Amino acid sequence: MIELSGHKVLVDPWITNPLSPYKSVEDFVNEVKSVDFIVVTHDHGDHVGDAIDLMRRFKGAMLVGVYELANELGSRAGALDRIIGANVGGPIRLSRDLTAVLTPAHHSSTIGDPVGVVLISREGAIYHAGDTGLFSEMSLIAELYDVKVALLPVGGHFTMGVREALKAVELIKPKYVIPIHYNTFDLIKVDVQELVEGVRLAKIPTNVIVLKPGESLNL
Ligand code: ZN
Repeated sequence: MIELSGHKVLVDPWITNPLSPYKSVEDFVNEVKSVDFIVVTHDHGDHVGDAIDLMRRFKGAMLVGVYELANELGSRAGALDRIIGANVGGPIRLSRDLTAVLTPAHHSSTIGDPVGVVLISREGAIYHAGDTGLFSEMSLIAELYDVKVALLPVGGHFTMGVREALKAVELIKPKYVIPIHYNTFDLIKVDVQELVEGVRLAKIPTNVIVLKPGESLNL
């Protein structure tokens, strides 16, 4: 969950994942009370997560995603009036001070193309890469949106691993990077300290922030 310009945005909300501090979607909903936007980057189960259930419970939430996937999830949630189906490219105006841009992601997806997302507000831009391999145009994303925080997958096998993520940090040079998509299960187990060390040795001016599941951070 990202809080930006007074909005709460969930990206790929798999609330009931094995490392989640919440026992159920209901526990999460009771604590968080409301969210404004739910962004889903692609249709894999660990990314759609509990989006449909959450759309039913958070009656004020809008679902943002690639057109075909947004339609599918909106229809399954009985919430076709609360979807923002878009595509890779230019700005999607979510509110007066919150804009989203869907970015390419090198990955697979059955319904619609997989994407990442940049959330832009007066407080800065946050790039959530979604599930992706490394691609050189990440430097364009950085150039256009002046990324303050990048959330990058590092677990390997399905996405970038540590070595590739280190190159991504070098291309994006965000102020902060938060590694994601690792250690949830055995196939994506990595030692995330290798990224911390790699960024330090390469003298890249980025702070790597390693969050524990359930932990939050104010920037
Ligand atoms: Zn995936």
